[in-house]
Amino acid sequence: MDFQPILDDIAATLAADRGLHGQVASYIPALARIDARHFGLALTTTEGQSAVAGDGALPFSIQSISKVFTLTLAMQQLGEDLWARIGREPSGDPFNSLVQLEHEQGKPRNPFINAGAIAVADRLVSVFGHRAKAELLALMGGLAGEPIAFDEEVAASEAQTGFRNLALANFMKSFGKLDNPVDAVLDLYFHQCALRMSCVQLARAASYLCRDGAGICTERQTRRINALMLTCGTYDAAGEFAFRIGLPCKSGVGGGIVAVMPDRLTLAVWSPALDATGNSALGMRALELFVARTGLSVF
Ligand code: GLU
Repeated sequence: MDFQPILDDIAATLAADRGLHGQVASYIPALARIDARHFGLALTTTEGQSAVAGDGALPFSIQSISKVFTLTLAMQQLGEDLWARIGREPSGDPFNSLVQLEHEQGKPRNPFINAGAIAVADRLVSVFGHRAKAELLALMGGLAGEPIAFDEEVAASEAQTGFRNLALANFMKSFGKLDNPVDAVLDLYFHQCALRMSCVQLARAASYLCRDGAGICTERQTRRINALMLTCGTYDAAGEFAFRIGLPCKSGVGGGIVAVMPDRLTLAVWSPALDATGNSALGMRALELFVARTGLSVF
């Protein structure tokens, strides 16, 4: 299959809709000022084909998509031990909810809600200490094949406005579920949210997920990450994503979504305006068009 004409066609089909649906995330100025009309997509296949369209080469704030990569790093380092403090069930609650955490004594439902990602960050600080951010950058650079950086302005704003994340971290700390100082854990978490990458870089970086781990993690770990993306990767819309798209996906409030078709390809889309579930409105439409045109699905 030649994917470039398919991506070009999706970009052309959606061109008139750019910026018309949803709202750009506005909780920090660095995200609020992004032009809602951006739209890009890029893919890379197991056979070495790559394709890109629209703003696919423009870097943006990957936000919660980073949770896939920190989870990968933690699984590499800790294996099964990681799951002592983190569950694997969809939450059915907002991604930054405190309520469930109280009921479940500080054990987050899954690694893709904020509490879960903060728990993963805590484990990474235990393993790497003050080198944790550098280790994450090294992983991302290795996966993307070129240097990847944090947007320090975004990281600083996340820290200034991250009252709820601070609450989640303190809450887990009060249950004895974080080993490290809250500040150190959140410093890593806010920086991972502030990673700047393009769709091209993201599709390439995530490609181990469609290649049985490709030496980054084991085949079994890869299947598990994909399973978590399918069930928990898109906030409260995971059922809708499975129904409409049928691929493991992870989204972020920067408007990016990474999708995986195991053994075939990884696809990244970006459009900053979000729907009511916090997922890129046009990004979701682009993924729907892609699976309709290619017939790809895990089901
Ligand atoms: N920095 C955001 C937060 O922690 C990330 C949210 C997201 O992309 O889901 O609230």
